[in-house]
This record gives sequence, C-alpha cells and structure tokens, in this order.
Amino acid sequence: MTDALKRLWDSTADFQKRFRLDEQFNLPAQMRCVSEELAELNKEVYGWYFTEDGLEAENFSINATEEAADVIVTVLGVLMGMHMSYADIEDALERIAAKNDAKTHDTHAINENGKVARKEVAS
Ligand SMILES: [Mg+2]
Repeated sequence: MTDALKRLWDSTADFQKRFRLDEQFNLPAQMRCVSEELAELNKEVYGWYFTEDGLEAENFSINATEEAADVIVTVLGVLMGMHMSYADIEDALERIAAKNDAKTHDTHAINENGKVARKEVAS
C-alpha cells in the first residue's frame, strides 16, 4: 500500500517551497485556510446526511472525501510551518490509533452528546 499521507506531506512541502510559504509562515492565514476547509467539509457531510432520497449520496460522498483531504492538507501546512517533521506526525498518529484501540465497552460508552467518552467511575 502506498503511503498517501506521506505523498500529501511531500506535495505540501513542494507547494510551500514553490510559493515561498516556508520562508514566511503566516499562521493566521494558514488557520483561516483550515477553517474554510472545515466549513466546506461540514457542508458536504451535512448535505449528504440530509439527502432524503439518497440520489445524490454517491456524489456527496466523493466530495466529502475530497473536502476531508483538503482539511488534512491545510493542517499539514500548519504543522510544517511549526517545523514539525513527518516522523512527529507518524508518532502522533500511532499514539492516537493506540488510544482508539484501548477504548472498549469496559472503559467507554456513548454519552448523551453522542460522543464515545470515558465511563463515569462511581464514587
Ligand atoms: Mg475544499
């Protein structure tokens, strides 16, 4: 399997060099890009969620994956501007995956907000 995230990381590094963003990191501008892409992802996902006839669901889901990738690429740009390395990201991804793996029905439950959260310990 190819490492799509590494491919995107390398592409983002090339993009930043091409536009000299690596020489003039503008955090507020980059975070605005993240917010814009999150808003676009929200629009696609909720558009899919509220499509009652399902006829547009396939198209919406394709757009949703592209919008999700847009979010990821803008976040990678932020991390790159903060001088994080790809190894830093790999380490964080592994930590998060391990945390996910460790959550079970013994430790977590879906709370009233629909979030999987640590179970309350009775005192
Ligand atoms: Mg987008």
